[in-house]
Amino acid sequence: DQFADIDMGEIIMGNIALSSYTHPTPVQKHAIPIIKSKRDLMACAQTGSGKTAAFLLPVLSQIYTTGPGDALLATKNSAQENGRFSRRKQYPLALILAPTRELALQIYDEARKFAYRSRVRPCVVYGGADIGQQIRELERGCHLLVATPGRLVDMMERGKIGMDHCCYLTLDEADRMLDMGFEPQIRRIVEQDTMPPKGVRQTMMFSATFPKEIQILARDFLEDYIFLAV
Ligand code: AMP
Repeated sequence: DQFADIDMGEIIMGNIALSSYTHPTPVQKHAIPIIKSKRDLMACAQTGSGKTAAFLLPVLSQIYTTGPGDALLATKNSAQENGRFSRRKQYPLALILAPTRELALQIYDEARKFAYRSRVRPCVVYGGADIGQQIRELERGCHLLVATPGRLVDMMERGKIGMDHCCYLTLDEADRMLDMGFEPQIRRIVEQDTMPPKGVRQTMMFSATFPKEIQILARDFLEDYIFLAV
């Protein structure tokens, strides 16, 4: 029951060693191997369970060890030939949706800690703050984006973000996002034409509860998923 039992590549393992984490929490112990095996995941886990590292560590490790999958590289190349990609518009490989600015910032801080020296650049966008500053940060490059749904829709409509390369999608605190009325924005982001379809992208949903509305979202967004309750 040690992090050393789960291989996530030299850089991530080094960053775990630099952090104060010695042993994986139960959700980390179970979710990390599932995500590493490229399966979709529906995890019921509370705040404080260590769920943030449970999805960040394997996603970061997959981004820098393997990069986007072959199917997505094909999408990328054909899209580039069509001249749709610009340097100013960012195409993150991983997207994490979170309900609040506070949670988005916590996830971003943890992502920066674990992406240290990996060349993977995390960014964060959330509502209620200066959008110009966030756009300037994005334009410096963004591989992993943490976002609240409303601000992300705004960024997409301004042409600052494209989901064409998003091969890892995480919905964190999905039940809270629905309680806050974000379902239309979430569906707009996930069901747009340029987002790789389920089964091509890998999708992880985390939620404290598993009511009917979350089951429907899981049915719509996940492909042949593993259900984990801790
Ligand atoms: P979370 O549930 O992701 O919000 O994490 C709750 C708190 O536990 C955060 O402050 C994390 O930094 C911390 N944490 C997460 N995983 C571990 C671990 N394996 N060992 C020690 N602390 C952890």
